[in-house]
Amino acid sequence: MRSLSVLVSCIALAVASTLPSVPEQLPLSAYQHAYPGFDLDLNARRLVQMEGKAPVWMTELEKIIAKAEGVQFFDITDTQDLGFNAHLRHQSTFPSLNATDQVKSVLKTLSTKGPEENLKKLSSFRTRYYRSDTGRESQQWLFSKIAEITDTSASESLRRIITCTEFRHSWAQNSIILRINGSSAADEVVVIGAHLDSTNMWPFLPAPGADDDGSGSVTILEAYRALITSDFRPERTVEFHWYSAEEGGLLGSQAVAKDYESRSVNVIAMSQYDMTAWVKQGTREEVGIITDFTDHSLTKFNKQLVEMYLDIPATETRCGYACSDHASWMKANYPSVFTIESKFENSNKNIHSSDDRIDISEEFSFSHMLEFSKLAVAFAIELGGWTKSK
Ligand SMILES: [Zn+2]
Repeated sequence: MRSLSVLVSCIALAVASTLPSVPEQLPLSAYQHAYPGFDLDLNARRLVQMEGKAPVWMTELEKIIAKAEGVQFFDITDTQDLGFNAHLRHQSTFPSLNATDQVKSVLKTLSTKGPEENLKKLSSFRTRYYRSDTGRESQQWLFSKIAEITDTSASESLRRIITCTEFRHSWAQNSIILRINGSSAADEVVVIGAHLDSTNMWPFLPAPGADDDGSGSVTILEAYRALITSDFRPERTVEFHWYSAEEGGLLGSQAVAKDYESRSVNVIAMSQYDMTAWVKQGTREEVGIITDFTDHSLTKFNKQLVEMYLDIPATETRCGYACSDHASWMKANYPSVFTIESKFENSNKNIHSSDDRIDISEEFSFSHMLEFSKLAVAFAIELGGWTKSK
């Protein structure tokens, strides 16, 4: 973790070298207007929280450079009070697996077809940056795709307990919240999440974001499609979240978590999917279970799901402070886990670049992604419960 003073002193160097498209002789205010289709003020003041330090104010540009240098953080400008009620939530325990037949019957219906088509489309936008026009368009496309899948896959009576809403932010790209209302314990909520935005190291450059996190986004969408096709009616409420602005410092998920906390929503478990497609050449295909900054007993439960329902083994790994949206929920003390494509060190190195594409390498695998859809299905059924309608 680098100190802010070091970061700030790196700016000139970074702007000149790491971020090649910035002409160093121009003042920042001059060139940012040269990027039509973006609503990004590089001089805006942001409050940023890094591991083990008091939050610091910095400009948007300084924040972008910190991220480019590998520093992980929350941008807490609009969510300073997230976690104000964290002390009210106590340690949860999770059941042993008891819905094996129901889970397995849904797993049979999973397919790589939808994920391939959806990811082709999702990664075709120039960028899904949360403050870009194409970021907004990609989110609207995803929202309409979710509606289409609901219309074509859920029965009419199931559709009556499903709602899909856009969660608005102070930037144009919304988060998406899909809710399947619980039959007997609707106030207990199980959340499955991914982030719909993407970024390049320098946000104005192309960012197909196929793996980060197009993969997680279509992974959980396929799990949702399979569940509703099987007429899944949970006892608890099960929600699928697609967050905006993860790449801006977990902005979307913090806003959603803050809203849930302020309404005292009882989220009993949250599971994040961020990067599910990459199998590094020469490595064993496995599922990375993140063990730092996650809930210990939910992580144990999640690992049991992998062992019971997936065709590849789990491996424990770490990803550091504020590395994806589960961290926003953990901040409010909602039990959260994070599952990733491999051990962290074997994960896709093309992310945050124009090379984060489906067709960059054989290492990008839709069959690998499908294992994560299995996990999401199992998580939804084992924790959500299932009321049989017949
Ligand atoms: Zn990312």
